[in-house]
Amino acid sequence: MKISRRGLLKGLGISMAGGIFVNGLPARMASGGEMKMPKVPRPLLPSPSRKRVVILGGGYSGLYCAITLRDLAPDSEIIVVEKYPLFVSGPSHIDFVAGLKHLDEITRSYDPVAGRNITLIRSEVMEVVPDEKMVITSSGLIEYNFLVISTGIRIADEDVLNLIEQPASNAHAWELGETVEMRKRVEAFKGGKIVLTVPPAPFKCPPGPYEVACLLREYFDNKKVKAEIAILDANDKPQPGPLAQKWTAVLEARNIKYMPNNKVIEINAAGKQIITDKGEKVGYDLVSIIPPNKAATFIKEAGLGDPFVDVDPATFKSKKYDNIFAVGDCAKVPYTKSAFTAALQGKNVAHYVARAMGLDVKEPAPIINICYPYVSSKESLMVRVEWDKDGKMLKAEADDPKKDYATSRAAWESGLINGLFGA
Ligand SMILES: Cc1cc2nc3c(=O)[nH]c(=O)nc-3n(C[C@H](O)[C@H](O)[C@H](O)COP(=O)(O)OP(=O)(O)OC[C@H]3O[C@@H](n4cnc5c(N)ncnc54)[C@H](O)[C@@H]3O)c2cc1C
Repeated sequence: MKISRRGLLKGLGISMAGGIFVNGLPARMASGGEMKMPKVPRPLLPSPSRKRVVILGGGYSGLYCAITLRDLAPDSEIIVVEKYPLFVSGPSHIDFVAGLKHLDEITRSYDPVAGRNITLIRSEVMEVVPDEKMVITSSGLIEYNFLVISTGIRIADEDVLNLIEQPASNAHAWELGETVEMRKRVEAFKGGKIVLTVPPAPFKCPPGPYEVACLLREYFDNKKVKAEIAILDANDKPQPGPLAQKWTAVLEARNIKYMPNNKVIEINAAGKQIITDKGEKVGYDLVSIIPPNKAATFIKEAGLGDPFVDVDPATFKSKKYDNIFAVGDCAKVPYTKSAFTAALQGKNVAHYVARAMGLDVKEPAPIINICYPYVSSKESLMVRVEWDKDGKMLKAEADDPKKDYATSRAAWESGLINGLFGA
C-alpha cells in the first residue's frame, strides 16, 4: 500500500491548505505546537440558563463523561469543546503504523454524539479562568457551572534539544499526524538501524513503544528488509511494571536491543544521532522519539497542576476548585493512561458531577484496566490491574502472549468505539 498523508487526509474529506494547516489544523496535528491565537473574549454562547457542564476534549474520557452525564442529569446542558473535526481511537495508531488498518478505520465523525443532545463545539481551548468560571476558546468565551478537563496529553517536544527546530527529523505514533508520517517512513525504509525511544513514566499507553517495536520486527521480517531495532528507555524496565518480565523475554526473542535508564535529551539530525542523559550517542537510519508526556499548557497557566491536573483520584475533583474535575490522560491519578481507564474515568466523573449538582446518584465502581499489547499481528500479552476507590493498587496480573488475547483486543476496541458512535 502506498501511503500519502495528503491523499489519506483528503480521502477523509479534509483538505490541506498551504501545507501547514489542515482545515485550520496544524498538518501534523502536533500538540507540542499548540496553536497560539489571539484571545477572543466575546461570548460564544449566552450565559447558562440551567446547569451547564463544559467538557474540554472529545476523546474517550470526555465523550464517555458526556454520554453518561446525559443520562444521569437529563436537565443539564452538556457542551464538549474539541479542536479536531474527527474522533481518533488511540489504540489503533499502532495498527496503522504497522499497516494493519487504514486511516478511515481509526477515525470517526462526531455527529452521532451530537445527536444525543450534547453540544459539540469545534474550537481550541486557550485558557481556563477558574475564578470567573469561564473558558476562553479560539472562537470565543464559554461560561460554565461545572468544568471537566479531558484534553489528554501534550507531547513536550521542547524537552528534547533541537526537536522543535528540526521537527522533520522525528515521527512517532502518539498523535494522528505523526502516526501518518511514521507510517510513510516505515514504508520507505530500505534497511539499517531503527531507534525507538520511551519517555519517563507516566506516559500514554505504557506498553505502546514495545508493541511498535515488535510489529515493526514482524513487518520488516515479512518484507525481508534487514532492520536492527533498538529501544532506548528512560525507565529502568519495560512498562507497565506488571509486564516488565514478559516484555524482556519478548524483546529478546525478537532480537530487539533494549537499553534501560537512557533518557533522550537531544537529537542531532544532521549527524543522525540521538544523545541520552547518560552521554550515549546512538546512530540511526530511522528514529522514533516519544518526547515526555504532559498536560496542555493552559492547565499549568490556570494553576490547576503541573505536569498534570491535581485531582482527588476517587472523585476526580480538582484539589483547588469544587466545580472543576479532570479525567483521563491529563489527570494526575494513579490509573494507567489508557483508553480503557479513560472511558471508565469518564463514566465515573459523570457520577461525581451529578452528585455535585445535588442529584441522588449512586457511587460508581472503582477503576480497573485491562490491556492486550501486541507482540505480533496475531498474538497479544494481557495485563489486568485493579485499584480501590482511592486509587490504591489492589491487584495486578499479567499473562504470556496468546492468539485469544489478540482477538479480545480487537473486540474490546470496537466495543469501546461503538459505545460512543454506534456500530
Ligand atoms: C500508539 C497508542 C496505542 C495505544 N494503545 C492502547 C491500548 O491498547 N489500550 C488502551 O486502553 N489504550 C491505548 N492507548 C491510550 C489511549 O488512546 C489514551 O490513553 C486515551 O485515548 C486517553 O483518553 P483521553 O480522553 O484522556 O485523551 P484523548 O483520547 O487523547 O482525548 C483528548 C482530546 O482532547 C482534545 N484536545 C486536546 N487539547 C485540546 C484543546 N486545547 N482544545 C480542544 N480540544 C483539545 C484532543 O484533540 C482529543 O480529542 C494508546 C495510545 C496510543 C498513542
